[in-house]
Amino acid sequence: MRMKAIVFYEHGDTDVLKYEDVPTPACGPQEVLIRVAATGCNYNDIWARRGLPGMKFIFPHISGCDVAGEVCDVGNEVTTVKAGDRVVVHPAISCRTCEYCTSGQEYFCRQFKIFGFQTGPLQGGQAEYTKVPEINALPMPSNLSFQHAAAVPLVYLTAWHMLVTRANIRAGEDVLVWGAGSGVGSAAIQIAKLFGARVIATAGTNSKLEKARNLGADEVINHSSQDVVAEVKRITNKRGVNLVFEHVGGATWERSILSLAFGGRIVICGATTGYDALTDLRYVFNKQLTILGCHQGTKGEMVTVLKLVEAGHLRPVVDRVLPLRDVAHAHRIMEQREHFGKIVLTP
Ligand SMILES: [Zn+2]
Repeated sequence: MRMKAIVFYEHGDTDVLKYEDVPTPACGPQEVLIRVAATGCNYNDIWARRGLPGMKFIFPHISGCDVAGEVCDVGNEVTTVKAGDRVVVHPAISCRTCEYCTSGQEYFCRQFKIFGFQTGPLQGGQAEYTKVPEINALPMPSNLSFQHAAAVPLVYLTAWHMLVTRANIRAGEDVLVWGAGSGVGSAAIQIAKLFGARVIATAGTNSKLEKARNLGADEVINHSSQDVVAEVKRITNKRGVNLVFEHVGGATWERSILSLAFGGRIVICGATTGYDALTDLRYVFNKQLTILGCHQGTKGEMVTVLKLVEAGHLRPVVDRVLPLRDVAHAHRIMEQREHFGKIVLTP
């Protein structure tokens, strides 16, 4: 059996991405085979394609962390999922038996891998079929399309773990969310609002700021044309925000630190603009700031997120749907930051 997939054999520009036939994966005893109906794009796809210093990718590589689809085959030990089920993938592979996995901290597992990013060879969502362990296949909310379901997993899971689990967000707090147009930013706005926070969101264009307001942002700042720190101080009556939601890194970190109130927290899940950031340590100790790192989330958090999506409290934001073969176009849109929400591919 062969299937179409986006495969690459080396790091490089978008021309390394090949749309070609590869073997269809076969289920192990505890695995399920999914016919991919939709797969969400993430910045991880770009990191994998470009390569990251100190990180070894497995070739031939298929990217794609977010998968929604229909189960078409199951291994002979699988009991909870059957052919025909509509599922969403929890994009974290771990051993499920170590002390971390069994205490709700699977992201600390020595075998932890982000599905469709660190897995392989030939194991990711950007294909007609993909296989995952049974435990990673969760029921898809019945009121969602495949395209909207594929816009949920990685960004909502990450934003939830950041704001709720790590930063312990509370009603009445002021939260600065960088990059409202990113998948994780659009998720963060909605989660912060759900918890009763006042959200100050940034974006690079006025049309994105308008969309951020429609998602629930109370205040918006154009980070291309406005002084973000000065605006935060104006909006908070010179106090600063209680919490900064960081995923941009080098380009924004210094301003994030300067935007915090006394006792403020900064929670970070990535650094799309670079890892080298300047921290004026006087602010950290004088203002008693807290820096919270974050790497994905747990299956339990994923289940909670899906429940809230199904209930309509969180709405996946789909920027556009493209055919799988147009993946290079999707990378360029993300690199140019032309999107608002998720780009979804359909095989
Ligand atoms: Zn483990």
